[in-house]
Amino acid sequence: MTTTPTKAYAAQSPTSPLGPHAIARREPTPTDVEIDILFCGVCHSDLHVARDEWGGTAYPVVPGHEILGRVTRVGAKVTRFKAGDLAAVGCMVDSCRTCDHCSRGLQQFCLGGATFTYNSPDAHLGGMTFGGYSERVVADEAFTLRVPANLDPARAAPLLCAGITTWSPLRKWGAGPGKKVGIVGLGGLGHMGVRFARAMGAHVVLFTTSAGKVEDGKRLGAHEVVVSSDADAMARHASSLDLVVDTVSADHPVDAYLALLRLDGTMVMVGVPPNPQQVRAFSLIMPRRNLAGSLIGGIPETQEMLDFCGTHGIACDVELIRMDQVNEAYERMLRNDVKYRFVIDMASLKG
Ligand code: NAP
Ligand code: ZN
Ligand code: ZN
Repeated sequence: MTTTPTKAYAAQSPTSPLGPHAIARREPTPTDVEIDILFCGVCHSDLHVARDEWGGTAYPVVPGHEILGRVTRVGAKVTRFKAGDLAAVGCMVDSCRTCDHCSRGLQQFCLGGATFTYNSPDAHLGGMTFGGYSERVVADEAFTLRVPANLDPARAAPLLCAGITTWSPLRKWGAGPGKKVGIVGLGGLGHMGVRFARAMGAHVVLFTTSAGKVEDGKRLGAHEVVVSSDADAMARHASSLDLVVDTVSADHPVDAYLALLRLDGTMVMVGVPPNPQQVRAFSLIMPRRNLAGSLIGGIPETQEMLDFCGTHGIACDVELIRMDQVNEAYERMLRNDVKYRFVIDMASLKG
């Protein structure tokens, strides 16, 4: 099969830093879109997977699922994209497309298993899929997103994961006027959670461990910001929130955030700490609270989110880095030193 040699950055083991690695991209099939990658966001999941913190990483792994670029070639049956268009690929590149969940536009929960953008079996070339820390990507049109022309491409790239992962639970659990919504953690996901919850009309409270992020939290749209080590401030919000979206990537006291929920309120875990987190039954039974989870979002809601961002001029706060700065970016992410998403300028890999 004809393939295109493609420069990428990969981790070769859980403990090795990422470095240059050559991969192959398939020749576009009739329904494929080939994209020259301009920008790729750095998600905390990239770090978890590169270091095998969740188990199941196959090496070499090329992370990256916040991909935005320009279409270079399209297959003969592609109707929605042409060469020169801006296009994006998020966390998935395929699914069975026929199961109950796929039929409902929830491809991330495909009963046959979605094909994720990296570290998933690659049905075309064999081996595993490779992500956006690379020069180009080839994806089926059905998993390729349109990017509103008014958005800055570098600032739009992280919408493909950080954006949709917070958008989806806020929409599903009804964030909007009259609702008090908490966002826990002001990182890549959290800063978009704050922006979206505010744009949806909710009363937004940010909970952060970082006293230095209070002003940014307000600038991003939080009506109130609580530093979680302040027990009095936490107590003032007890049993008052309708919805809490927890984006924390490490061990943290889940009970302390459940305590914020009112009767029938829901806390949605989107952060994936590598270790199991403890929950006291009392935190749920009194007063009748819900604990839920959410995984990215389906393709239709991802497009809906991108279009909403275009209409309302919403994008991410980013710090552009070169490809060879990604290892340093991972270390800074672990120190909560990111405002609020690193985005790789892929020109630095091609040069
Ligand atoms: P990030 O940018 O590193 O943000 C995580 C935030 O969590 C930090 O900024 C920090 O916020 C807070 N935090 C970190 N360590 C903490 C600790 N020990 N205790 C309390 N708070 C802590 O990461 P991200 O890219 O937003 O991703 C967040 C998590 O979501 C990761 O686990 C990632 O794998 C997961 N994720 C899940 C999905 C999904 O579909 N469910 C999708 C994407 C990512 P403060 O400084 O404000 O406290
Ligand atoms: Zn992600
Ligand atoms: Zn399916």
